[in-house]
Amino acid sequence: MKTSTCKGCGAEIIWIKTPLGKNHPVDAKAERGWREVEDEFGNPICWEPCAMHKSHFATCPKADQFRTQRRNHGKESDGNTTQRSNEGRALEARG
Ligand SMILES: [Zn+2]
Repeated sequence: MKTSTCKGCGAEIIWIKTPLGKNHPVDAKAERGWREVEDEFGNPICWEPCAMHKSHFATCPKADQFRTQRRNHGKESDGNTTQRSNEGRALEARG
């Protein structure tokens, strides 16, 4: 995995790929978390321990810097966000 340093706060971060193929920074330091295990029908059957990396957008004290860089990238769940990014820009202009 590619590790780097956050330009905002200097923390060590890892770049992961989201299911949508976008790069997303997470804290390099993993916390212990739990993940739901499902059976073949999708029913939860148990939990197992796993390493969880928090989104660095959530933990970075300088997260505002990242937000101003996001212009053409809309919400993560959307594929085509041409109209939405225009709305976003209008909101940003208002402050
Ligand atoms: Zn940071």
